[in-house]
Amino acid sequence: MRTKSTGKKKINLITLGCSKNVYDSEVIMGQLAANGKEVVHEQTGDVVVINTCGFIDNAKEESVNTILEYVQLKEQGIVEKVFVTGCLSERYKPDLEAEIPDVDAYFGTRELPLLLKALGADYKHELVGERLITTPRHFAYLKISEGCDRPCSFCAIPLMRGAHVSKPIEELVEESRKLAAKGTKELVLIAQDLTYYGLDIYKKRALAELLQELVKVDGIEWIRLHYAFPTGFPMEVLEVMRREPKICNYIDIPLQHINTEMLKSMRRGTTHEKTNALLKEFRNKMPDMAIRTTLICGYPGETQEQFEEMKAWVQEQRFDRLGCFAYSHEENTHAYLLEDDVPEEVKHDRVAQIMDVQAQISYELNQEKIGKEFKVIVDRKEGDIYIARTEYDSPDVDNEVHISAKDQYLSPGTFVQVRIVSATEFDLVAEVIG
Ligand code: SF4
Repeated sequence: MRTKSTGKKKINLITLGCSKNVYDSEVIMGQLAANGKEVVHEQTGDVVVINTCGFIDNAKEESVNTILEYVQLKEQGIVEKVFVTGCLSERYKPDLEAEIPDVDAYFGTRELPLLLKALGADYKHELVGERLITTPRHFAYLKISEGCDRPCSFCAIPLMRGAHVSKPIEELVEESRKLAAKGTKELVLIAQDLTYYGLDIYKKRALAELLQELVKVDGIEWIRLHYAFPTGFPMEVLEVMRREPKICNYIDIPLQHINTEMLKSMRRGTTHEKTNALLKEFRNKMPDMAIRTTLICGYPGETQEQFEEMKAWVQEQRFDRLGCFAYSHEENTHAYLLEDDVPEEVKHDRVAQIMDVQAQISYELNQEKIGKEFKVIVDRKEGDIYIARTEYDSPDVDNEVHISAKDQYLSPGTFVQVRIVSATEFDLVAEVIG
């Protein structure tokens, strides 16, 4: 399977982990292309760059297995060089160099110029905001800041991504203009903590101001908010969301737990009561807003009672979208000093219980949508159906709208008006009405 030699070594980027890693891979690819390099994403190539994830056990395991897979291909002469970058490399470089020495070189999350040099390219500062999009052309992630200043006890991200650094509003507007010019219609705003935006460079929370500028970008029709933080949530953001139709009625806000003792130990800076008060204000101010959250089960010391409190709360709150993880005991985090005393099988059983509750809620909420009309964006065609999303659904993580492809053609990236005709737990079936 040796790749056709064009004299130019084809560089193949492999992205693992979260949307922030997708963004970083796109930046690497943009730099390589600007240096005249042939670069592809998750295809085949002579040189492989693996952008790893080092967040929790499962993700780390997937990253190590991917590295081993490509080192094997190198031994078989199918690929010539293997480079590793991203969070796992940032966090465990010395260990990885010792345990998997056949990798040509390891780079951290803030070593892009060195990685490019190893690939025979020079870092081009003038390209800031330019990248090769790997998502379908009509939506793109917009990373508004890097790093995180929060002290969450279970989280290794600040160890891998450093302190919080916001990008200036002008740069983000310019980046969005360039994306819109290439056909992007939906911007998915990402960060480690979206709501911290501006506190470093503007000495105030400036997410609302940023949104006010992004809605002015021609061609951008949907703006979506991911990774908000509950404590110190800038309520002025809801005002802008209410006023600006381009901003999707959607917010992703990982809450992690609801028991006050657990939240205290997690160093989340909030309580059961304060969390509920925030959610109540969200629903009062934005009754039509879809709320996505993420929870952790099996955090050190979590009792059956505290878990039951969270399960009952999930039942009561009826989140539109919810993800749940088993606690992962991460070295060098504050929680690593605690005993990881909840057995793995209990952690996973609690996750399964929460997801069962959520599946039923999602089913009921979807049933209520039958007969209703929505504007959807068409993402792709799969077999004889089109896959689309409402403004309440983020790419890759939320519900999908299925539209028959029989007797009609819908091009990806177009908005169409539909009526929901049936629904399952996590998907809707719709017919086009305009
Ligand atoms: S806000 Fe998110 S990224 Fe930052 S420390 Fe907390 S969990 Fe980690």
